[in-house]
Amino acid sequence: MKKQLIIAFAICVLFLSACDSAKVPPATRASAAAEALPSATCTAGLTRLDLRIGGGIPWPSIFSNTTSSTVRFTVRLAKSWFFGPARDIGTVTLPPHTGRISSSVVLTFLHTPLGVGTVVIEVRTDRTGAKIIGRCDYQLHLLAPLSVEVGTVLRPEKRWLYQVPVRLCAVEGSELAGVAKPGQTVLPGQLLKTLEDVNAKIWYPQAQIAFSTATDYAIPVIADPSPPSVDHARLGDLEVGGPSIEAAEARDLCRQAWQDRFPGRVGIPIVNARTFVFSGDTLGVSPGPAAGLYVHSRRSGSGLRGDDLCGSPVRLTPDDVSASMVVMVDQSRLTLVGVDGLTTAVRELAHELGHNLFLGHGNGFDDDGNGRPAGIRGPKRYDEYCDPAWLIPPQNLDNVEDQATPFVNCATSSSLMNRFASCTELRPLQVETARGVALVIPGTVNGTESPVVGFASPISRSRHLRRFGTPPPSREPHIMPIRMRH
Ligand SMILES: [Zn+2]
Repeated sequence: MKKQLIIAFAICVLFLSACDSAKVPPATRASAAAEALPSATCTAGLTRLDLRIGGGIPWPSIFSNTTSSTVRFTVRLAKSWFFGPARDIGTVTLPPHTGRISSSVVLTFLHTPLGVGTVVIEVRTDRTGAKIIGRCDYQLHLLAPLSVEVGTVLRPEKRWLYQVPVRLCAVEGSELAGVAKPGQTVLPGQLLKTLEDVNAKIWYPQAQIAFSTATDYAIPVIADPSPPSVDHARLGDLEVGGPSIEAAEARDLCRQAWQDRFPGRVGIPIVNARTFVFSGDTLGVSPGPAAGLYVHSRRSGSGLRGDDLCGSPVRLTPDDVSASMVVMVDQSRLTLVGVDGLTTAVRELAHELGHNLFLGHGNGFDDDGNGRPAGIRGPKRYDEYCDPAWLIPPQNLDNVEDQATPFVNCATSSSLMNRFASCTELRPLQVETARGVALVIPGTVNGTESPVVGFASPISRSRHLRRFGTPPPSREPHIMPIRMRH
């Protein structure tokens, strides 16, 4: 069907040019021929485009080569709120006097930031150099997927996406950084695919949480905080165990690199190192909550904040999550595929992000039933941070409470937050905590559908000035307001 359309269009172009040459007097024919530039047809001016995540942003619908030479068109995505720096996204090559109808799109993913902003697709050719011969000009309103029905018949609940921003970085010397130096950027490679799976296979389906990145194309390379001259390890290796502060140093370098390259964009730093040294068999690290947020137990410093974390509703502030980060080893070291079809990298990143949403180690169940169930206000008593029995001494590794639920399999008795990140399940109590914490992470967008407030209206500048005494809102991306809902 598509082939027929293309052929039909090619014939049409040829036919029109034949008609033209028959009608146009010889004197003007030379100049008309000189102006017969290749073209790409798209929007007529700025066009609003409403999409839900997963939808595609159309390329120009028609490419037309009216010249007598073969033309190669290059399609470029300009810098945007959604995708980061400009980049070429494809080419179309057309023989002389032919055209093509295109149905290509730029896809959006769970990691594409929600919001409103312009998206410009520009087309150039090898015949016309820097001149833009076609352009799509969209004002994209990227919305969350439709809500998911959760809960029970008696207690139905519609759950919408909460999108938590992250900032990817690669330490110099890591496989991901390749030969790039600090200050440069590299493609996110497998790390982006891992993030995609973390969203699509684990966090979104179970908790309607996804992690977004402001650039899916160019991620900053940062310096090794302890270069080989200092730690005698290889470039890109970090020591993350015990009292080492290298993980925190790498986090700070990642934050700074993003501030330099993509100012104003926030998010949990995710640092890709080469590997870890002197750190046991650790594959990833992340900070948990301050001890004061733990429920009162023999953990020193616990219980100071009552049920701010270990209760519903969650009552935290952005200060409580200010240490957020994930530092993990190169993707190529995490390629083992489990029975669930997911790589170690996917489970590892999902697990560390769980710690950033203040989920402690455990099976996710209130095994001894000393707290309130998910969905009901009041104290929550489960897992490492929120059960008063805390961990088994003297190693302090496994939860006392979890001993009541012997491991049978992932589906019935464990969770993503077990110490080995060997399962992918998120339990209702974990989902409740994670969603409560997600909302206080700076930059998190609540995708709940509500009457839209504050979108720029299509009103002219002079008219806006006359009516309101101020210029219209800028075209800067507008983020939907976050509403606290528990
Ligand atoms: Zn862990």
